[in-house]
Amino acid sequence: MGKLRVLMYHKVSPTHRNFLTVSVEQLQWQLDYVQKHFTVVKLSDVIAHVEKGKTLPKNALLITFDDGYADNFELAYPEFKSRQLPFCIFLVADFINKQTEHDGIQQQFLSHEQIADMAEYTEFAYHSLAHENLMQIDPKDWLQHIQSTKEKCAELPMLNAWAYTYGQFPKHHPQAYTTLKEAFKTANISVAFRIGNRLNQLPLAHPYKVQRIDVKGHNNKLLFKLKTWFGKLFKKILSLL
Ligand SMILES: [Zn+2]
Repeated sequence: MGKLRVLMYHKVSPTHRNFLTVSVEQLQWQLDYVQKHFTVVKLSDVIAHVEKGKTLPKNALLITFDDGYADNFELAYPEFKSRQLPFCIFLVADFINKQTEHDGIQQQFLSHEQIADMAEYTEFAYHSLAHENLMQIDPKDWLQHIQSTKEKCAELPMLNAWAYTYGQFPKHHPQAYTTLKEAFKTANISVAFRIGNRLNQLPLAHPYKVQRIDVKGHNNKLLFKLKTWFGKLFKKILSLL
């Protein structure tokens, strides 16, 4: 049985690096590295795996970006295109086409035109209406939230997947989790991504809690390699040495 690795990025900058931002040079090195060691798959491959039982290749790896920053088009997309690698972006419906405050600062988000221009190597899915934390919305309103998010993106080439804002979902509340799964099914969302920092066993047994590895700009090359191969398990492995 194989494993699915999913990398989670947010922003790209010419040189700046922080927990949410990788530099272009880092991204170049990381893409070269994963291209050499893994089979980079599309989000639509993962959805086909869940919906139709399509087999994912050995060492499958999916690359995701959250929030939909304009730098994903300006700085990340050229790197994916030149390597012919697919990736996906989880868009916040209300942020599209806007410069708006997020995380306490003004940020520029992708325009409809940029989204259309990058469609060859990029797939798009949902990351809430306005970056609300799902856990701060009443469960009875989850379906409405998901449907409103979808409606707002109706003109865009969206796939049936969701990334939890802040990685938050009802992890410890089985009843609420059942409510959420029902809401996703009703809204035709087939896959949802959390953080978790672990690899996913294939076939995916829990398509609404697919785990992603958080790529941080201040991590060095060794840490990137360890996280990509082992997820957070690498910490346990190191403690045994
Ligand atoms: Zn986010």
